[in-house]
Amino acid sequence: MSLENLNQEGFKSGFIALIGRPNVGKSTFINQFIGEKIAITSPIAQTTRNRLKVILTNQKSQMIFVDTPGIHKPHHLLGERLVQAAKRSIGEVDAVLVIFEASHSPGRGDAFILNLIRNLKIPVIVALNKWDLLELRQFKERKKEYLDFLEGTNWPVFSCSALKREGCDDLISEIEKKIPFGPQLYPSYMKCDHPEKFLMAEFIREQVLINTREEIPHSVAVSIDKIQDIPLKKKSNQNPRTGILATICVEKKSQKGILIGKGGTMLKKIGKESRLQIQTLINGNVYLELFVKVVPDWRSKTSRLNEFGYEGN
Ligand code: GDP
Ligand code: MG
Repeated sequence: MSLENLNQEGFKSGFIALIGRPNVGKSTFINQFIGEKIAITSPIAQTTRNRLKVILTNQKSQMIFVDTPGIHKPHHLLGERLVQAAKRSIGEVDAVLVIFEASHSPGRGDAFILNLIRNLKIPVIVALNKWDLLELRQFKERKKEYLDFLEGTNWPVFSCSALKREGCDDLISEIEKKIPFGPQLYPSYMKCDHPEKFLMAEFIREQVLINTREEIPHSVAVSIDKIQDIPLKKKSNQNPRTGILATICVEKKSQKGILIGKGGTMLKKIGKESRLQIQTLINGNVYLELFVKVVPDWRSKTSRLNEFGYEGN
């Protein structure tokens, strides 16, 4: 970074890519840092589709985390785009935080990631996440496995539980040390670079994934079609509400059936839970109406991918 960018007070700023196999806890990590829910998390892999920038600002620094889609072997167009987005974000950052799962021994997916970043010229910091799932003795053995796996790198290795927020502060201090001096790039109040509309769609998608589990895998996309204030009726003692119309898109008719559920119970549940999340996001009452639409094979259609905001090249 050039000298004129050096801030007199020694302020630091930098972009940090979060890299890791799907499901290792990248989004959980981001939500913990920011202290509010921004990235969606779910027990089902590959929920993070778009690159979400999450901004952590304090007196001394501004760290901009880029939540990348999990790196995996692409199966179709959407998969390829996810991998491209992950690779691109590695090329654009000042440091990499790579997360491995302490609850598993390093496997082929981890080796794939290690190869991808091994020769990077920028600082890499390693987090062994989910240590809360292991006994201390087990954990020590597992840590040794990872240290062997990472042999030849001189990256610092931290252990943490993103879920319980244990070990995360040390990790953050280390990242702060590794980013360059530079000016504040985003205003302090800004925690995320995506508009609320995007987050609303993500919260709905998350509830679909959580409630339908394996039945509706990744073939679901959500678009927010309309957001408007609902005017209060005269003499009403209700609070003002925001009306939101959203469409959930699936690939098969059978999936539509699952999503709607018997007598509409599933869709009601998804609607209720995502409405509560959206209410917290916008800090107000929400009326949410959900539609389900079948668009065969949307994942392989470029125009559809663009429509739902999945970045291509
Ligand atoms: P991502 O795909 O890497 O973004 O992973 P997520 O953040 O969505 O997390 C995947 C799952 O792992 C979720 O069910 C999380 O609650 C869970 N998880 C994340 N971090 C931890 C952790 O430190 N401990 C435990 N026990 N579970 C975690
Ligand atoms: Mg994620």
